[in-house]
Amino acid sequence: MTGQHCWGYGEEDGPSEWHRSFSIAEGDRQSPIDIVPSQATYNPSLKPLVVSYELCTSLSISNNGHSVMVNFEDYDDKTVISGGPLESPYRLKQFHFHWGTKSNQGSEHTVNGKSFPCELHLVHWNAKKYSSFEEAADAPDGLAVIGIFLDTGHQHTGMNRLTDALYMVKFKGTKAQFDNFNPKCLLPSKQDYWTYPGSLTTPPLNESVLWIVLKDPIYISEKQMLKFRKTLFYTSEEEDGRIHMVNNFRPPQPLKGRTVQASFKS
Ligand SMILES: [Zn+2]
Repeated sequence: MTGQHCWGYGEEDGPSEWHRSFSIAEGDRQSPIDIVPSQATYNPSLKPLVVSYELCTSLSISNNGHSVMVNFEDYDDKTVISGGPLESPYRLKQFHFHWGTKSNQGSEHTVNGKSFPCELHLVHWNAKKYSSFEEAADAPDGLAVIGIFLDTGHQHTGMNRLTDALYMVKFKGTKAQFDNFNPKCLLPSKQDYWTYPGSLTTPPLNESVLWIVLKDPIYISEKQMLKFRKTLFYTSEEEDGRIHMVNNFRPPQPLKGRTVQASFKS
């Protein structure tokens, strides 16, 4: 197995096999991790996270065969996060989700061993230091990803536009226009967070991510969650045997001496 398209979430190409093609899978700062709140270090000097998404421009929604992703314009600093553990603003590039088949699995990070049904990743890059997303994705301080847990409860109004758009990108390799979507509506009202140095959770698994995992989940309805599980396929329209896109998460990886810092006192 070589190249970009040799991995997935199946029995033969899933997370436990990724190290065969991507040896960094067994590296020292891999993600996700299990967050144990009682072992996180409260750091009072961690600033509040500042999310400046007011002028953001979403471009498209796509199915890349591993997740569903919304892409943003990122040629200037109009959509950034700053503060928190970050030394400079990081630009929003895309967001995507990981989810399961049922409510007790789906998230990548876990808290005290507990999984959530879904996890949202808002991916940002350090444009002060690097000239492109690709360059940043290869650097130890290149990316900052906000992880947000999704639990089921009330319907999430802001999420409707997204779940209603999924039918346009059912199959791997499809893409549709998706403008004027502001992911600010997907943030919980309180933004206490844990932060630690980690990696991409999909191949090539680069150890380039400063993770910011929010403590509070957001809620979507079971019906909205079902749209993720039922609408999307890992397979392209041409392939025989459609495989539903579910359980597209990597399990927690060893901490290997890393410290998780908390912005809040538990
Ligand atoms: Zn992700």
